[in-house]
Amino acid sequence: MAELRGVGIGLGVAQGPVARMAEPLPAPSDAPSERTADDETTRVREAVSAVARELEQRGALAGGAAQDVLEAQAMMAEDPSLETEIDARLAQGKTAEWAVHDAFASFRDTLTAMGGYLGERAADLDDVAQRVIARLRGVPAPGVPDPGHPFILVAKDLAPADTALLDLDKVLALITTEGGPTSHTAILAREKSIVALVGVVDAKGLRDGETVIVDAASGVVTTEPTAEELERAQTRAQARASAASAPITDGALADGTDVPLLANLGNPDGAADAVALGAQGVGLFRTEFLFLSSSQAPTIEQQRVSYEKLLGAFPGKKVVVRVLDAGADKPLPFLNDAHEENPALGLRGLRALRASEDILREQLTALAEADAATRANGGGADLWVMAPMVSTVEETAYFVALARDYGIKTAGVMVEVPSSALLADRVLKHADFASIGTNDLTQYTLAADRLLGSVASFQDPWHPAVLRLVREVGAAGQAHGKPVGICGEAAADPLLAVVLVGLGATSLSMAPTALADVRASLLEYSLDDARRIAEAALAADDATSARDAARAAAAR
Ligand code: PEP
Ligand code: MG
Repeated sequence: MAELRGVGIGLGVAQGPVARMAEPLPAPSDAPSERTADDETTRVREAVSAVARELEQRGALAGGAAQDVLEAQAMMAEDPSLETEIDARLAQGKTAEWAVHDAFASFRDTLTAMGGYLGERAADLDDVAQRVIARLRGVPAPGVPDPGHPFILVAKDLAPADTALLDLDKVLALITTEGGPTSHTAILAREKSIVALVGVVDAKGLRDGETVIVDAASGVVTTEPTAEELERAQTRAQARASAASAPITDGALADGTDVPLLANLGNPDGAADAVALGAQGVGLFRTEFLFLSSSQAPTIEQQRVSYEKLLGAFPGKKVVVRVLDAGADKPLPFLNDAHEENPALGLRGLRALRASEDILREQLTALAEADAATRANGGGADLWVMAPMVSTVEETAYFVALARDYGIKTAGVMVEVPSSALLADRVLKHADFASIGTNDLTQYTLAADRLLGSVASFQDPWHPAVLRLVREVGAAGQAHGKPVGICGEAAADPLLAVVLVGLGATSLSMAPTALADVRASLLEYSLDDARRIAEAALAADDATSARDAARAAAAR
């Protein structure tokens, strides 16, 4: 038995035989073409257009987020600047295959250098190039294998065209050797609730047909599992299935302590699904997701429309909106223009907004207007607004005062930087609430880039250092009588959710697909249990032993 580590997406567990994705096509040679440049141009145009149409057709079949992604890929294929690059190479007498390969590669390098969200689109571009070259060669495009039985798919990084049409009756789980938690593999796996692990560097050695267990909750692939391990995984998979079909109730512990369960959303279009899955409101609305592809700041009007839609979907319920969190993994061209060596430590979050205060003021105006408009229609929500990446008491006071100037009644801050957690008692003198972003809090506490597969093992919110910081904020919340929510991925881990409540969290917000698991887990423990399990985790030396100690305490 061996364990391979990666970043788990969601909480599922699956077992089965491995089937590997075909290797990419060999790179074309750059020998001169034997055809005329005109002939090569005609071949390229035909191939590019056929690939674009095929991607659109796949998108139309798949629908939902997959359709948007595939249509974006079809547009990439026919991007005029790529066409210019290809033509320049054909004019030098190169073959169509080589011209496509080389032009796409230069675009890929540019995207990769941009890093973050755009960097992770590089895989999409590679996939388009492979499809065009396969078409030119008259061979099938590399894609998902079909071994004739259900399988665990192992790939370098899946392209949207592949994930969109995965046959979910056949694919038991996904493992990728590359890609981070914001890659398309991860996004689509979340949307379709596919068990997935990304960035599993050592999965390169897995062989076709060997049986493995994929545990997304702990981020581990177990090779050569024992019969006992297989049985345990099977029991967990069944428990998840029954949690998913259990009645939807408000979040609560076994002793009746309320723990509201809220949704993390990046677009108001996700509201209906969240409500159907039992979200009691929104704990984190990531406004920057609406504008990732905009080169200019959104207008007040554009924003108001989106916010009204969001607030209107949750009448009478709490909706926590985060002002734009630009920078690092989520660069917004209109807020982050300067190149920074370490963007995660740079002018991001509230720092970037403060440097472009007009944009922040406009966003607060749009939020206040949307709030007023939905209330006037009788369908308003309880709007809370918070700032990301707040690292000082002064920043807290600044943001809360500014939000109040715009009539925002409940203004708070995200605790994502250790300094804010350590001074939470003073931060909460000013803020109406705190919401702990465990993704960034873990990144900054362990000094491990959350997007980097090679340091993924450090990015574990079970680390007792992170738990201590959460305890600090929980205690400050209790002392001030102010709410402390959790809105990072940690809240979606069923046992860690119990620990977080034991440390003083008063609500939990997560991807809506995780709500059922967390709801079922909370119902198993009283507040005293949660505190006892949290103490056990806090006493550990590292993340793995904290998880083990919590499991042992939970079993008592
Ligand atoms: C976090 O950092 O935990 C968080 C919720 O914010 P984001 O993941 O959007 O950075
Ligand atoms: Mg964050």
